[in-house]
Amino acid sequence: MAFLEELYKEIILTHYKSPKNRGVLADATVSSGGHNPSCGDQVELFLKLDGDRVVEASFDGDGCAISQASASLLTEAVKGKTVEEALALAKKFRAMVVEGKTPDPELGDLAALSGVAQLPSRVKCATLAWNALEEALKGSK
Ligand code: ZN
Repeated sequence: MAFLEELYKEIILTHYKSPKNRGVLADATVSSGGHNPSCGDQVELFLKLDGDRVVEASFDGDGCAISQASASLLTEAVKGKTVEEALALAKKFRAMVVEGKTPDPELGDLAALSGVAQLPSRVKCATLAWNALEEALKGSK
């Protein structure tokens, strides 16, 4: 268990320090953002859809390690997925961090954020980018 915790911490810090897909996506077809006033986190999510498939994803933002790592991991996870698949993934992520369910294998590295379920004040940090994802994809349908 200690090994897993170390590994999870490492994944979060790596994505926080060297985020993937950071920056405004100039040819995004949908975008959405939000902020978490209790922690000062800000995330703006950009997606490029081709038909019903997410072909590019990026984010811009500022905030704590959990909020920024979650956004970075999200952009990696949804690339190549259909809108339905991305929304299903969001549901699985929420089940993990909000309800404390065992991470679904499909979540991959996102399982690194599973510990957030034990930290109620940080749940909003972890779900910020996912709220933006759902908001952006809702608008695309
Ligand atoms: Zn935060």
